[in-house]
Amino acid sequence: MDPIHPMFPVTRRAALQRWQEFLPGAARYGAGRNRVEPGHPQVTRLSAAIRGRLVTTEELIGSLLERHRFEAVEKLVQEFLWRDYWKGWLELRPSVWTTYRQELARVLHDGDPAILRRAETVRSGRGGIAVMDRFARELIETGYLHNHARMWWAGYWVHVERLPWVLGADFFYRHLLDADPASNTLGWRWVAGLQTLGKVYLPRRSNLEKYCAAEWMSDTTGLDRIDDARVTAFPPAEEPPPARVGWQSLPELPELPAGRWGLWLHGEDLTPELSALGPLRPDCVLTVLDEPLMQKLGFSAQRVDSIREGLADARARAAAHFGCPVEQRAQGGFAAHLCQVARERQLTGWVAMRPAVGPLGDAIPGIEAALAAEGFRIHWCRRRWDETGWPQAAAGFFPFWEKARGRLLARAKTPSEQGLLNI
Ligand SMILES: Cc1cc2nc3c(=O)[nH]c(=O)nc-3n(C[C@H](O)[C@H](O)[C@H](O)COP(=O)(O)OP(=O)(O)OC[C@H]3O[C@@H](n4cnc5c(N)ncnc54)[C@H](O)[C@@H]3O)c2cc1C
Repeated sequence: MDPIHPMFPVTRRAALQRWQEFLPGAARYGAGRNRVEPGHPQVTRLSAAIRGRLVTTEELIGSLLERHRFEAVEKLVQEFLWRDYWKGWLELRPSVWTTYRQELARVLHDGDPAILRRAETVRSGRGGIAVMDRFARELIETGYLHNHARMWWAGYWVHVERLPWVLGADFFYRHLLDADPASNTLGWRWVAGLQTLGKVYLPRRSNLEKYCAAEWMSDTTGLDRIDDARVTAFPPAEEPPPARVGWQSLPELPELPAGRWGLWLHGEDLTPELSALGPLRPDCVLTVLDEPLMQKLGFSAQRVDSIREGLADARARAAAHFGCPVEQRAQGGFAAHLCQVARERQLTGWVAMRPAVGPLGDAIPGIEAALAAEGFRIHWCRRRWDETGWPQAAAGFFPFWEKARGRLLARAKTPSEQGLLNI
């Protein structure tokens, strides 16, 4: 199958290839990562693969520290950890995701038609600031934006166009190949000023002139609208601090009672064979491409293709590793297929990585109820990396980072004993 977009890998092999290409020069990441340039050579471009766990941040950090001194690549390690931080933060505060989806539905249904029309104009790359319009088109065409471009564009949407942040977040979520409920929702909240009280992110012309490729800035149409002196924050409506839920620990490998067990392989973790589930001998492996759900969420065709390709890649690896029947079902909900395949293959139940907060996480209660109604069980598990790191996202990033940094430094000193993963 042709790659979705050759620059942004969505199979494990392509992701590892990109990583091998990037790794030798990784110490230059800190100095170059803010530059937004054609081809995005200064950054890894691995976010779609990391999002689906075709490669894990744990193994990337492992090989990075095998090759470079910690201090030389600290900035990149820190960025990898931002992803983990946002995942943990949202896992501890799931209502932030629910409230965002509810607010999005409300705005789409009851929003001021003039605002909805302007939002569509800006999204389609006709907002009037040439460089921002270019970013909107780049997102639609490639499914990717550089981090700095995401910040500029989100800041432009919220503080210059003064459009509802939830509509902008949804535009990203539908098109990004790496779209993640945590990084995207919380990235947008941070730009809007909801995530860190008193802090917003403003797109400033001088900052674009410094970091954005000259050829993308050569059309100066509309740039005066983001003149430094002109851009002011559009303060968000106040909201109470989100409620924090208790941490629910899960094993990395559940103790399965005797019986026939299937492994449900899904888009939140596409390398179970490289987790503690590796030694498992399931009776079958199932993937479900829930097309109606993706349609309901409005995913772009390119995003759907990337998910399809990631699942196909994972199935091929699972077949080789687990040596059992591997199948894919489509056109329907996860719960219905899990029940049907359990019946057909006379399973006791399923084992699966527990999906994090997001559309798949939202499906958990329905899956559990449907399986229980037919006498099947599902055992959830979680990688030790997440089980250790995510609960630490109780406060700000820097306390989280300091703890993670300490753990990584300790492991880097004794890689073989601690089993630091290398590729
Ligand atoms: C408004 C907004 C929305 C975003 N939405 C998403 C999203 O849906 N999915 C997503 O993966 N990232 C998101 N990000 C974070 C970041 O922009 C992307 O992870 C990064 O641009 C991906 O490109 P890369 O792989 O080349 O990154 P690199 O710079 O090479 O970084 C390596 C990896 O570190 C992680 N990372 C880097 N920066 C961040 C960050 N700020 N937050 C979280 N993780 C980070 C990613 O996994 C990334 O692949 C968003 C940021 C903003 C400001």
